[in-house]
Amino acid sequence: MSLLPIPLLPGAVPPQADAVSTHGLVLGEIGTTGARPGATGFLTDTTLCIGCKACEVACKQWNQLPMDNFGFSATSYDNTRDLGATTWRHVAFVEQMGGPVGTDGMPGGHAGGGLTSGGHAPTELPPFQSHWLMQSDVCKHCVNAGCMEACPTGAIIRTEQDTVLIQQDICNGCGYCVPCCPFGVPELSLFDGKVHKCTLCYDRTNVGLEPACAKACPTDSIQFGPIETLMARARERVGSLRERGAKTAYIYGDRAVGGTGGMDGLNAFFILTAPPETYNLPARPELPQSRTFPASWSTIGAALALGAMAIFSLRGR
Ligand code: SF4
Ligand code: SF4
Repeated sequence: MSLLPIPLLPGAVPPQADAVSTHGLVLGEIGTTGARPGATGFLTDTTLCIGCKACEVACKQWNQLPMDNFGFSATSYDNTRDLGATTWRHVAFVEQMGGPVGTDGMPGGHAGGGLTSGGHAPTELPPFQSHWLMQSDVCKHCVNAGCMEACPTGAIIRTEQDTVLIQQDICNGCGYCVPCCPFGVPELSLFDGKVHKCTLCYDRTNVGLEPACAKACPTDSIQFGPIETLMARARERVGSLRERGAKTAYIYGDRAVGGTGGMDGLNAFFILTAPPETYNLPARPELPQSRTFPASWSTIGAALALGAMAIFSLRGR
């Protein structure tokens, strides 16, 4: 893949092989993905999202998902709150106080980098006024998917488009996949006792249609297509955003951010302008399975040490 130029975060050094920026990113991995050839997925550009929730509604309509138990959350104007068994697209409303861009390139920090003569970045409100970040979240269709590795029945498969699909007739509802997703996406349904999540509209993409959410999005915040095309588009868009003053824009889901910890990239990635945690996304996600091997060695080590201690104490008698 040819890599388009992407301005670095303020204070970062130019990319070299395996160079690590002040943000802990491997710079050579910015804008790259381990996606397999021919893979398709989503680019969700949060800078274009207006929070209309047309994607959520279109997803429910096409997939015939029941309504959620709407209520007053007292935490946000967004009342669906989270992804779940009956919410496969979820638009998060994140209210933030306006403020200067910090020296680390992130908003709300110390005065310094990225400020205009007006005292704030061109895309931000003045300090002490609130603004909104909107993000339409979805299953990331990980290049290496924790849910799929954990499924004991083979119900979770990788499609020919490299998306991750749960076959409902094979799922037995054991729920092993639920804790193995680093993003908290799959959920056991109260309706049928099986696990459900985004199918990336397999029944639409299979016949040449784009997924319902991407079709309904009025601003093209959600785009569907080949991963290589989308990643090149994301790099170009981040470069353009930074040139126009949105210094904190970056790609979440490339190998540098979000594609770490054994996942090797996400087939549904995002353009974000605030740290991942702001959107309730893990900053350095990793496959839970990657901790199994070291954990088992520490258990074996502890058992050997206890055994040795027991032998020495018995021999001393
Ligand atoms: S985001 Fe979670 S549910 Fe979706 S493919 Fe990755 S591990 Fe599976
Ligand atoms: S709940 Fe279904 S999809 Fe999840 S691990 Fe069990 S069989 Fe597999």
